[in-house]
Amino acid sequence: MEMEAFVPEQAFEDFQKTVLENNPHANMERIRQAFDFAVAAHEGQKRKDGSPYVTHTIAAAAIAAEMGLDDESIIAALLHDVLEDTDTTYETVAAQFGEDVAGIVDGVTKLTRVQYSTLEERQMENLRKMLMAMAKDIRVILIKLADRLHNMRTMQYQTPEKQLSKSRETMEIYAPIAHRLGVEKVKDELEDLALLYLDPVGYREITNTLEKRRLIMEQFLQEMEKTIEERMAKEGIKCKVYGRLKHLYSIYRKMYAQHLGVEEIFDLCAFRVIVDGLADCYNVLGIIHEMFRPVPGRFKDYISTPKPNNYQSLHTTVIGTEGIPFEVQIRTWEMHMTAEYGVAAHWKYKSGPSGHKEGDEEKFAWIRRLLESQQDSEAQDFYHDLKVDMFDDEVFVFTPKGDVKSLPAGATPIDFAYSIHSAVGNRMVGAKVNGCIVPISYPLQNGDIVSITTSNSSAGPSRDWLNIAKSGEARSKIKQWFKREKRDENIQQGREMFGAEAKRVGLPMADITDPDMLPHILKRMAVQDMDDVYASIGYGGMTASHAVGRIRDEILRNRAPAKKTELEKMQERADRRQQQQKPQKAVQGVLVEGLDNCLIKFSRCCAPVPGDPIVGFITRGLGVSIHRRDCVNYRRDADGGRWIKVTWADETSDYYTAEIHITSDERSGLVMDVATILNGLNARVRSLNARDTGKGTTVAAITLDVKNAEELQTIVNKLQTIRGIQDINRGGI
Ligand code: MN
Repeated sequence: MEMEAFVPEQAFEDFQKTVLENNPHANMERIRQAFDFAVAAHEGQKRKDGSPYVTHTIAAAAIAAEMGLDDESIIAALLHDVLEDTDTTYETVAAQFGEDVAGIVDGVTKLTRVQYSTLEERQMENLRKMLMAMAKDIRVILIKLADRLHNMRTMQYQTPEKQLSKSRETMEIYAPIAHRLGVEKVKDELEDLALLYLDPVGYREITNTLEKRRLIMEQFLQEMEKTIEERMAKEGIKCKVYGRLKHLYSIYRKMYAQHLGVEEIFDLCAFRVIVDGLADCYNVLGIIHEMFRPVPGRFKDYISTPKPNNYQSLHTTVIGTEGIPFEVQIRTWEMHMTAEYGVAAHWKYKSGPSGHKEGDEEKFAWIRRLLESQQDSEAQDFYHDLKVDMFDDEVFVFTPKGDVKSLPAGATPIDFAYSIHSAVGNRMVGAKVNGCIVPISYPLQNGDIVSITTSNSSAGPSRDWLNIAKSGEARSKIKQWFKREKRDENIQQGREMFGAEAKRVGLPMADITDPDMLPHILKRMAVQDMDDVYASIGYGGMTASHAVGRIRDEILRNRAPAKKTELEKMQERADRRQQQQKPQKAVQGVLVEGLDNCLIKFSRCCAPVPGDPIVGFITRGLGVSIHRRDCVNYRRDADGGRWIKVTWADETSDYYTAEIHITSDERSGLVMDVATILNGLNARVRSLNARDTGKGTTVAAITLDVKNAEELQTIVNKLQTIRGIQDINRGGI
């Protein structure tokens, strides 16, 4: 194998160029120190291709620089393998380059040590989350991505086994993480490189076909760039148009999803139109749709509704002059940076000459939130349903076989045992973490390998475990055990609790055991005998007050009217007491002062939705009709005496009907534009009517269902961007 000799001075020159191109303010003196440190530390170590090992860490640092990461990250990237592969200690790195850098290097090292095996998809998701949870600093993950990217670029020197396993890991773990962080550029390259090893035949099929069509497509790209740029210039819009071929893996996925050959996939080309301001995005969209026929259903507005990883753009697919469909993405420069570099773009904007040092933890909080929200939207399985609010509230541990378990933060070996199987939990007598015996109340840490010691002679869980266990799953399984195994104990305990509650509300036990009454009660409670009721109170499946309440109701229902009176009085007293304590009942999401369960009607004149200040009008026979406080009918008659105070309840109904009135310059395309925007916002439109007034204006009325005033306002704001709009209002004012 021929290699150019490694000359540190030359290598530094090249590296420095890359760093300064991306951040002219980089502190090259510190970076130089780290560079020299890495060269010295890896002295004598070689890569598979025979080159000095340090070329890898320099390349990873260059990728980190291209991603726009800060000085600390670039230094940490240079040093990312010194803890793992050399004698260098954490303390040395910390003393020379600061705790920040040492912490990042340490984080990358820990990730490197995690062993992977092929896992089911759910496990895989846990593993991705664990990696991110382990990386307390998001820069750790970004450097790990740079490291992986360079390793994938140089994978040809590895054994076929290693190529396969690393590529699979890249496809299953690292590319999805890059995507989640919005680092699309890195994600695309990782996917293409991994594809080369995972399906070399498919890969070649695509590259060969693309090669055959390369000239035609390059010509098409160039012409189209020019056509679009010229047209935009004519319209007075400053923009840059970039044409490109879609990345290989996205073509590959499409081939398989749609069962097509490469030659059958037409939209291989995509264009990006990048503009200076938000308003131009929509203007460009309008012009593109005038130039080319849009493919229906392909327009997506990720500007008003960004993707969970903060991606923003307008997407549309149109048909070009030769009948070739192509995608156009329209975005501002700022959106473009976020689209290419994701969370890393954060530094590209914000890092001044001094970089950023203070309050990193807080800065990363939004990233964690972002990760969180994305997981929620993708979540389908049961883990996620049970998931506690924050990303930080989870801990990820391994079984001795290498499966990953996700548990609530603070979870103990008890939770772990029950997450494997109730039989494991019920027979647990002890636990080991990373090979050492720990108390069963030990709080598990990310990455712990946990094994549970069981014994068939175990007496079962103890009641204390209910206080130690953190997960709902463990607690409910422990309760189940007590329910089954300790029935006598439960019955006795439940009977006492029931007796006390019956006494408290003044229900004589003799009424229950009355042979005329008992069958009714048992039927109502759906049990064989009262012991079943006591047992379920005893193990906590039902509260005593719930049981007593239902039984009392049943007795009242079956009593002869004459006998009822005493109990009835009691019931009335109880009801009154309850009414005073209980908050008012909302009807259709509205609370009417002093009135429960009255009929509510939303007035058509002003169509109020949650969030609007509202007032009620007492109608004859129709209950209360709800108006907005700025409704003309209320303002005209506010002193009329039939108005009543109403408020929105905390919980409102799903949808409310609202109206929007639009006035615009007279033009034909108005309805189309309105519909496009409403469609892009997934608005629930009931009707849309427009007519020309004959006085140079067009008016449109939209009836639609919204959740609240905020959603409505978003829609109105968006409609405001339509060309020629004069006025938008909600009517009734
Ligand atoms: Mn490395």
